[in-house]
Amino acid sequence: MVIDHNVATAVKNFLENYAEIYGLPSPGRSVNRITQSITYLPAETTYKSVHQNFLAGLEKDSNLQLLRYDAFRKLWHQLTPEIQIMSPRTDLCDTCQNFRNGLQYNARQEEEARELLKNFKDHLAKAKLERNYYNKNTKLAEEQRKLVAQNYIQGTTQYCSIDATAHYSYD
Ligand SMILES: [Zn+2]
Repeated sequence: MVIDHNVATAVKNFLENYAEIYGLPSPGRSVNRITQSITYLPAETTYKSVHQNFLAGLEKDSNLQLLRYDAFRKLWHQLTPEIQIMSPRTDLCDTCQNFRNGLQYNARQEEEARELLKNFKDHLAKAKLERNYYNKNTKLAEEQRKLVAQNYIQGTTQYCSIDATAHYSYD
């Protein structure tokens, strides 16, 4: 079939809508401008499954039914390169894993997916808060340790009477 403007627009709209429903917020490990603009689909998603989803949503007599998988995939890369499939990860916390599984297997309904996604985002926001707190404290611990070491070397203060804070971490 001829890939004209109408075909391209239909595919683009479908993918943007699909990503809006099933796209995952970035877990926030690599925070920069480029990765932030990317929408990730759950790792279990395949280009094939999305293509089938696209066809299934069409009218029976739509000429778009003729859009082959290869052409669909090519259009995807051309028109919406920011929509990507997440690579499988094994280092997610249980909550993240459950959300991901839920979005993939349980949330067949849009409404349900949106609700899950909202909770997932809340969870990630909390995780980010914790991470910031942790990072701030590791930095503080580093500075405090330097302070202690400095005074120890200079011998100006008794080692155990320094105005500093001790940090302990558990794994
Ligand atoms: Zn998590």
